[in-house]
Amino acid sequence: MCLVSLIYTSEMTANTDFMDILVVSRKKNENSGITGVLLFFNNNVVQCLEGAREAVNTTYASIVRDKRHRNPLLLDYRHISARVFSSWSMGYVPESSVTRSILLKYSVSQDFQPRLLSGDNCLGMLTELSREIPTV
Ligand code: FAD
Repeated sequence: MCLVSLIYTSEMTANTDFMDILVVSRKKNENSGITGVLLFFNNNVVQCLEGAREAVNTTYASIVRDKRHRNPLLLDYRHISARVFSSWSMGYVPESSVTRSILLKYSVSQDFQPRLLSGDNCLGMLTELSREIPTV
């Protein structure tokens, strides 16, 4: 079976219960064999989904339709030989984990502008941030 990884970014719309999204996502992802992490910073989401190609594509299609965020932009889609985030059905990276040095390490400035990040840099940043979060 073909294993893929997908990363996108989007902007949350007002009054969204983020914890509600995480609870549902974790349950659904577990059922469909998807793992990944989700970063929420400055009202932007950066999320990586990993799993079987069909499951990842179907989940992303459902996420894109969700009115609780807007302007989704696909940043990276690749075939992978192993998962990076296998410990999390959807790990959550809180704002407090993001430091100036991590932003500078992967971008041209300390401003958080996920829409300008390359897929490799985005993956690098999420991988580094995931070291700080508990497994779910
Ligand atoms: P339904 O549950 O029938 O929902 C249909 C629509 O109703 C949704 O698109 C949404 O616009 C709205 N809606 C649903 N629940 C609520 C609510 N509690 N409050 C307000 N509006 C609501 N799903 C996953 O399975 N895995 C993920 O990793 C994942 N990540 C997400 C990340 C983000 C940033 C967002 C916004 C959503 C994410 N979701 C994820 C949720 C996903 O978009 C779907 O809502 C979910 O998969 C349920 O899909 P459904 O087709 O059963 O839709």
